[in-house]
Amino acid sequence: MKLPIFSAEGDATADVVIVGSGVVGAMIADQLVSQGYSVLMLEAGLRIERAQAVENWRNMPFESRVGSDFQGLYPQAPNAPAPLYFPKNNYIALSGPDGNGFQQGYLRTVGGTTWHWAASCWRHLPVDLKMKSTYGVGRDWPISYEELEPYYCRAEEEMGVAGPNDASMQSPSERSKPYPMDMVPWGYGDKRFAEVVNAHGYNSVPIPQGRSTRPWQGRPTCCGNNNCQPICPIGAMYNGIHHVQRAEMKGAKVLAEAVVYKVDTDQNNRITAAYWYDAGKQSHKATARAFVFACNGIETPRLLLLAANAANPNGLANSSDQVGRNMMDHSGFHCTFLANEPIWTGRGPAQSSCLVGPRDGAFRSEYSSNKMILNNITRVGPATQQALKLGLVGQELDDEIRRRAAFGVDLSISLEPLPEANNRLTLSKTRKDPLGLACPDIYYDVGEYVRKGAEAAHKQLEHIGQLFGAVEFNITTSLNANNHVMGGVIMGSDPKDSVVNGNCRAHDHANLWLPGGGAMPSASVVNSTLSMAALGLRAADDISKTLAKG
Ligand SMILES: Cc1cc2nc3c(=O)[nH]c(=O)nc-3n(C[C@H](O)[C@H](O)[C@H](O)COP(=O)(O)OP(=O)(O)OC[C@H]3O[C@@H](n4cnc5c(N)ncnc54)[C@H](O)[C@@H]3O)c2cc1C
Ligand code: SF4
Repeated sequence: MKLPIFSAEGDATADVVIVGSGVVGAMIADQLVSQGYSVLMLEAGLRIERAQAVENWRNMPFESRVGSDFQGLYPQAPNAPAPLYFPKNNYIALSGPDGNGFQQGYLRTVGGTTWHWAASCWRHLPVDLKMKSTYGVGRDWPISYEELEPYYCRAEEEMGVAGPNDASMQSPSERSKPYPMDMVPWGYGDKRFAEVVNAHGYNSVPIPQGRSTRPWQGRPTCCGNNNCQPICPIGAMYNGIHHVQRAEMKGAKVLAEAVVYKVDTDQNNRITAAYWYDAGKQSHKATARAFVFACNGIETPRLLLLAANAANPNGLANSSDQVGRNMMDHSGFHCTFLANEPIWTGRGPAQSSCLVGPRDGAFRSEYSSNKMILNNITRVGPATQQALKLGLVGQELDDEIRRRAAFGVDLSISLEPLPEANNRLTLSKTRKDPLGLACPDIYYDVGEYVRKGAEAAHKQLEHIGQLFGAVEFNITTSLNANNHVMGGVIMGSDPKDSVVNGNCRAHDHANLWLPGGGAMPSASVVNSTLSMAALGLRAADDISKTLAKG
């Protein structure tokens, strides 16, 4: 076992330094430490205990719980703020026509944001990697689906994904291996919803999920208690912390409360050192042969801009001026109604079935596709709020809560953005974090492509409402974020208009990799973390080949 070496002053040296311990960073750490390399992970946030987070959730005020405050139960490191909404902080300043629809909820903590994700593990369609050449919009990837496919299989294995092995229920069905585990069984609501809509030409399919349907690498079987967001109390849902723990057991060293802020480069523009502030604001230096920034779609471009130096005055990896541009998320909205029969959502995980589509078609040259998740988070909270508003008390109140919880439907709709250079993260000139480092500013405009896609989705929803004899049918008017941040260090074959190559290696720095959502040149319409993980594994292979060359 080869370990990082620390000096008496607390400086470090390792074969590989990885900044960020979320799913992407931790999975890469696990790969490289397994191959005998010494790995140091620098993580800005605190180390937290699952049991404590569960307790914190139990003790949160009702308003925070019913308002889906998934951030508040995770304690923040004083030096590494993340965006908060209950109450709102001003860590990220949003502007532009759809700035308010880009309110991301990521965590800065050991293990990263997948502590409170929904664990939907989708693949892109093959055509999603060829949007420009097929539909004349967006960008093509420099790699094909066929090249990425083996990494999707590996990522599914690493994250323990349960999915449908019947090809007619897969999206996409182009796969070289079955899912590692059988799909999470559908609850009554998923079955009934699919029965009704699929009879009318829709395609409601099981969501592939990072949840165990049998004991899996130390994780127990999902018991369907519906608490996944903001935390799975028993660890049946995959979290980045699972890979952190695996990597640590093999000798990787994780330093919590280590905020990276600066780098050194040599005459060939290779990275020679990364600097971090510890909890006491003391600066330390880490030297390595390879560096990975896996800080997520917002913090990676921010760090690259913060790390500008004399040789890279516009920021690291930024000779193309593309760092921080092309920001994307699957902006979406909700549709709620009371059905004419009980649907009984709330049994099983937070999300289990999804209406994909139309996910692809000639229309994509003009407007975005959509996906509609049957939200399976129990309706008891909103049902109670609505029943109280009616002024009911006693038995009548009880009956109304039961009725609304059983008959209520909430569909969460996502849309597919295109990479646009003006959707951009920059460094604030006025707001600083507690270490004096500039906070992020983000401009966001979803554009006509998404707006037209939303109109098409509205028509589809009205038809679905009719199928269920919907009353109190409502479609939210403003767009909401879906926390799938992509684009800020975009991948491409031309160093003049992209930041990384098909292995997520920076065009400008031969020993710097920037894997994760930021690298993705197209968003598809599905959640993107499995693609981020696949890109992380591909980067790990490239790092290992590079290190082996000496
Ligand atoms: C509520 C919610 C639900 C979601 N559900 C889904 C879903 O169902 N399916 C899906 O595909 N995706 C989902 N996502 C998105 C998913 O969580 C992210 O895509 C994923 O966590 C990104 O992984 P990452 O490793 O790139 O970044 P993160 O998990 O965010 O980890 C990055 C880490 O880097 C650290 N870091 C940042 N800056 C520095 C620095 N300067 N120095 C040191 N460390 C630093 C951070 O502290 C953090 O711990 C969801 C997200 C949210 C918020
Ligand atoms: S349903 Fe329960 S056991 Fe299953 S992943 Fe969600 S919280 Fe964990």
